[in-house]
Amino acid sequence: MALLVQKYGGTSVGSVERIDLVAAKVAAARERGHQIVVVVSAMSGETDRLLKLARSVDPRPQPRELDQMLATGEQVTIALLAMALARRGVPARSYQGWQVAIQTDQAYSKARIRNIQTERLLADCKAGTVPVVAGFQGVDEAGNVTTLGRGGSDTTGVALAAALKADECQIYTDVDGVYTTDPRVEPKARRLDRITFEEMLELASLGSKVLQIRSVEFAGKYKVPLRVLSTFQEGPGTLITLEEHSMEEPLISGIAFNRDEAQLTVSGVPDRPGIAAAILGPIGEANIEVDMIVQNVGADGTTDFTFTVHRNDHERAVEIARRVAQELRAKGVRSAVDIVKVSLVGVGMRSHAGIAAKMFRVLAEEGINIRMISTSEIKISVVIEDKYLELSVRALHKAFDLAESRIV
Ligand code: ADP
Ligand code: ASP
Ligand code: MG
Repeated sequence: MALLVQKYGGTSVGSVERIDLVAAKVAAARERGHQIVVVVSAMSGETDRLLKLARSVDPRPQPRELDQMLATGEQVTIALLAMALARRGVPARSYQGWQVAIQTDQAYSKARIRNIQTERLLADCKAGTVPVVAGFQGVDEAGNVTTLGRGGSDTTGVALAAALKADECQIYTDVDGVYTTDPRVEPKARRLDRITFEEMLELASLGSKVLQIRSVEFAGKYKVPLRVLSTFQEGPGTLITLEEHSMEEPLISGIAFNRDEAQLTVSGVPDRPGIAAAILGPIGEANIEVDMIVQNVGADGTTDFTFTVHRNDHERAVEIARRVAQELRAKGVRSAVDIVKVSLVGVGMRSHAGIAAKMFRVLAEEGINIRMISTSEIKISVVIEDKYLELSVRALHKAFDLAESRIV
């Protein structure tokens, strides 16, 4: 008998028929003798609908009230799933975050889990009852409802698995595992049997939304066995493994992309010490995270300074950059949102030179202009025009033979 945390995402609970399918899967796992704790997301599209509703009242809604409302999406699905389980004769109880309690810090819309009380859940398991826990939400010290950021139900699942010392955390979704790239963009993408935490962390942080990055961080930190599987199709899925090396280490494991960034350039800034700090200081103070940064080599005593931020922060970042540009007597501020970041990820890159050159050559052959580049030990990212997203991903997938099996 194993204790399993099963998390079902938005599409998996997207209709009452699907919720009943999930109930059937949970009932079947229980029949096989396992103890199951379930985590569910809101029905697909629901969180977006609620966000839009809030923004129709105020484009920048009060963070506390926004979280209060967004948490209702999951409140609906936990109750529906508990009902569907009960109808199948499986005793079940639904819990919102505060009822568990899943305690978080106070950072609305990106709260971090600090502690999970497990007594109630363990008592349910012991009594043969299936706890159905709302993903994506928690409660802060003062009793306010918080949410964990988009895709946060993955993190709820992994955090619960860690707290309960579950045998496995199973993330059920609408794809049957982690692929070499998003199969919606490249149909030739291949499912990976296993991927290392390090690579999965990199893919998630570079935009692969199959797992929220914090869920991968959590799983790595607490050594939670983590598997991505399909709700709609049987199969082994993808295991996220702790091992650092495989025998046949591929150069590249996957391609990630991120459509959520915006690029800002402060042009004609004086080329002297302290400029980067002068520009990025106020951006940081406004709680805006900066991703890529490029400063050109100066000519005629001035230089251009370019960086990217999350698209949601674009307008605020431009406002701040304009103010700073004026103070610095820079030429001006340009910005673009029609961009995408495409990244190659692979632990095998460490030991091989020439991957970057090959990537740039492949893009050049397709006539794709690179606007920014950044590299680390196991990834190379480029910023390009968003209309080239599909073309670039498919060309790179082919050039690096990702459709071929890595284990020979
Ligand atoms: P859920 O609602 O179940 O949480 P998500 O939409 O958050 O599902 O995540 C699953 C989606 O992630 C897939 O439908 C797929 O389009 C996308 N995705 C992006 N990159 C990958 C990848 N490398 N492997 C598999 N799926 C990916
Ligand atoms: N419902 C939340 C979202 O859409 C959390 C999740 O699905 O993981 O982002
Ligand atoms: Mg998700």
